[in-house]
Amino acid sequence: MFHLVLATCLVSDPAICAERLLPAADAQTEDECRSRAEPIARDWLARHGDLRGGEARCVETGELPALLTHEIASGVHLREGAVAQLSPQNRGQIANLAFIVGDTVAVIDAGTTRSEGEALYAAIRRITDRPVSHLILTHMHPDHVLGAEVFAEAGASIVGNAGLAEALARRGEAWMMSIPDQIGREVFLGTRIAPVDQSIERPTTIPLGSTRLQLNPQPRAHTDNDLTVHDEESGVFFAGDLIMQGLTPSLDGSLSGWLDWIAAGPPDPQPSLIVPGHGAIQEDWDDAVAPQLTYLSSLRDATMRAVTAGMPLSQAIGAIVTMMKPWSEGWADFEATTARNAATAFAQMEWE
Ligand SMILES: [Zn+2]
Repeated sequence: MFHLVLATCLVSDPAICAERLLPAADAQTEDECRSRAEPIARDWLARHGDLRGGEARCVETGELPALLTHEIASGVHLREGAVAQLSPQNRGQIANLAFIVGDTVAVIDAGTTRSEGEALYAAIRRITDRPVSHLILTHMHPDHVLGAEVFAEAGASIVGNAGLAEALARRGEAWMMSIPDQIGREVFLGTRIAPVDQSIERPTTIPLGSTRLQLNPQPRAHTDNDLTVHDEESGVFFAGDLIMQGLTPSLDGSLSGWLDWIAAGPPDPQPSLIVPGHGAIQEDWDDAVAPQLTYLSSLRDATMRAVTAGMPLSQAIGAIVTMMKPWSEGWADFEATTARNAATAFAQMEWE
């Protein structure tokens, strides 16, 4: 397959440049790709007013930068993200991203940038030419959703929890402003928030031909728009950030809701593999949830002590982080994330 690659630079700073992949021009021959290039590049630039276009060329799949993925079950491919918070070193590539190849391809989460989404798309195209029918977003956080637009341009329907669109409208612009400073403006070039096409309110099945995906929107827990995905054929379960390994769990929904979700136990049937939003895949449900069950129950207990002692928020955050220290081992970014979690948990438990 041949793909259109367009050189672009920021209008406001012509020194910041990068090549963008425009999948709408994908073709079986180089001539066909070239014949589509001009109007597609023009339309794309019209929708990306902060960018100026340069040379457009058509390249073979093997020449595109691609994420490194591995097949964890038949037809199920995973890119494991760096177990860290966003940084220039990891270029925002911290979330676990996956795709499932049936008669069509479904992608689960898209990464922090257009660039990461494109490299995931290239990884898919190295394996199959089948259409990408769905991009399923497990929740609103930028490291999972901001790479989505390239999949919309490739023809995928963007699927999320019924609360996702509103959450992106509420929080998205702030992320668009802050994330380039965390990972670098060049790697963020051309990144846009893509609209959600399909909002999931109740358990829903997506047919992919040789397999089916069970999508389950979850009550408020990690966020207020979590969605899990269970692949029927392989039994692989995608938890999004409802399960995190190695990277300190970040509370952006409800602490009691998250503990309730863990207490409800594994999905039925039991998964063959559990893919967390961050960190290593797991075979056993209890092993998958145990570290964060300890973390979140300790957060609840420490916060309860701070609330009961009548501490003001300013004092409570430091006290909660200190009380949590014995559970810091094995969690990346423990202090900063725990301080934010303490503020969220304190507000919720003070209210309760
Ligand atoms: Zn998250």
